[in-house]
Amino acid sequence: MNSLRDLPSVEQLLQHAAHLIETYGRPLTLDALRETLDDARARFKSDPQTVLPSLDLILAEAESRLAAWTKPTLLPVINASGVILHTNLGRAPLSRATIQAMSEAAANYTNLEYDLPKGKRGSRLIHAEAVLQKLLGVEAALVVNNNAAAVLLVLSALAHRKRVVIARSQLVEIGGGFRVPDVMKQSGAKLVEVGTTNKVRLSDYENELADAALVMRAHRSNFKIIGFTEEPDLKSIAETAHKAGVPLVDDLGSGALIDTARYGLAHEPTVQESLAAGADIVCFSGDKLLGGPQAGMIVGKKDLLDKVKKHPLARAVRADKTTLAGITATLLHYLKDEAEREIPVLRMMSLKPEQVRVRAEAWREALGEGDVIESKSTVGGGSLPEESLPTFVLALQVKSADKFLKRLREANPPVIARTENDRVLLDPRTVLDDDLFLKVLRETLNAYC
Ligand SMILES: *Cc1c(COP(=O)(O)O)cnc(C)c1O
Repeated sequence: MNSLRDLPSVEQLLQHAAHLIETYGRPLTLDALRETLDDARARFKSDPQTVLPSLDLILAEAESRLAAWTKPTLLPVINASGVILHTNLGRAPLSRATIQAMSEAAANYTNLEYDLPKGKRGSRLIHAEAVLQKLLGVEAALVVNNNAAAVLLVLSALAHRKRVVIARSQLVEIGGGFRVPDVMKQSGAKLVEVGTTNKVRLSDYENELADAALVMRAHRSNFKIIGFTEEPDLKSIAETAHKAGVPLVDDLGSGALIDTARYGLAHEPTVQESLAAGADIVCFSGDKLLGGPQAGMIVGKKDLLDKVKKHPLARAVRADKTTLAGITATLLHYLKDEAEREIPVLRMMSLKPEQVRVRAEAWREALGEGDVIESKSTVGGGSLPEESLPTFVLALQVKSADKFLKRLREANPPVIARTENDRVLLDPRTVLDDDLFLKVLRETLNAYC
């Protein structure tokens, strides 16, 4: 007859758990063994017919608990979706030099806030600033945690309890809960909306500029207003604002430093254009079209940036040493005119359909399955709405496309793909390692059929 006394004791289990203790440490292993034993007891109490687990079975069950408890939630995935700046997949993968710079900063002490020539305390603000000054010809720059923080900080520092004039057509939601009017309110700025949703004129601005602290322009990033519309260009908004002595802040979002039209895409406004048009401050992301690590860049006039740097929020949203190292390394690619060769998101955008087709065909060859068909890749990351790049994909006919997508997501590493007309489409454009991808795909296909 089964009896709870037949269960091994924790002490007995521990004697056989050296391999678990080695990997997971004693306290966690103890925890897992106790939980597994408790479970077995509870099962037995609710049904005395239950066969009690053996010592080996308890150890195995404890091991799966330990594996589940210690598995990181953040995993590398293979992006075969063809969406280059996939926000849900963490936006831009980084260049080799950027990864190297970040890992060196992470592994070592650095002169983050230490002035080496003087041998005393320095400022972390100088690190990316010099490169941004050189690259963009700006007087000053500040790198913070992300662009949402950049906008919040600029408004808090320059317009708390003051009026900020913005066109109604720009009071948009960018995605992920970033709503321009909400961020403005959070900063304590008084929002002054001018114009209508589709039509904004310079006179609308002129009427509201008296005692305004700032004029703000927010790039509409992820959507378009078409049809009966009118909006003055940035240069004339800047001139109008400056005539009234009011600085202009441009939230550019994606932060393109090179013209996306060269890839056959629409032209995404660049940081240089904003500055040339007269924006006194431009804010943009580090991990969108710029192709670097997550960061928010604030560039422009020194007198304004000085106030921004001194605001208490600047400390709360500051960039860490790895971000500063990574952003600097990515910006250096632009400075050295090697951005397209070195920065993965630019390389992906620059791939000709023919180059993608060659890879898709090599995939088909290697798998002995599927068809290579024309399709479209997109930029994503809240930039260039409605725009796409002609591409070629490997299309797989499987029993259930949705079930196969699920299997791909459960693979190691997970693969993210899309379906169309009940076929699974795999876009080489966004896949970084073809060999690894093919290995995972082959395994998944074999297990599925
Ligand atoms: C993406 C975007 C933001 C937010 O930038 P994060 O770096 O994601 O914080 C803000 N404003 C605009 C216009 C954007 O496109």
